[in-house]
Amino acid sequence: MYVLVIALTAAVIVYLLHVMARLSKDDYSALANRMARRSRSSLTLLKPCPLCHTMLSRGERVHTVVFSKDPVGVDGRPRPARIKESMVHMFGCAYCRPPNGTQPRICPVCKRQIRDDGFAIARMFERDGRKHMHVLGCTECRHGR
Ligand SMILES: [Zn+2]
Ligand SMILES: [Zn+2]
Repeated sequence: MYVLVIALTAAVIVYLLHVMARLSKDDYSALANRMARRSRSSLTLLKPCPLCHTMLSRGERVHTVVFSKDPVGVDGRPRPARIKESMVHMFGCAYCRPPNGTQPRICPVCKRQIRDDGFAIARMFERDGRKHMHVLGCTECRHGR
């Protein structure tokens, strides 16, 4: 009788250990999946700063000032209302924006360094909530154009 109780207890313990081992394995693979998803999504969020090409992660933004325009095309005719066009002055990210940024700001058009009091000029198109930015030049090469 005494031996039987010990055997039963041992069987229960083995069973519990087995369940725990399976549970922790499931937990582990769920955690690994979550981490894999997270690293994938943060990879897609990395975008280079258009002026200094530092890779920016979520929350690191390029400082811009947006001047919204009426939806009218260059020929004076109204554009389709779904496309919104704006002018953007780009000052750079936390790594290149004066006075705290240390990376040089290079104009994507003329490839010259933008002076501390200058900025890049871009046109922004918004359509169906998606933004497209087109850099036109900087205060050096856009001047007088
Ligand atoms: Zn930058
Ligand atoms: Zn330029």
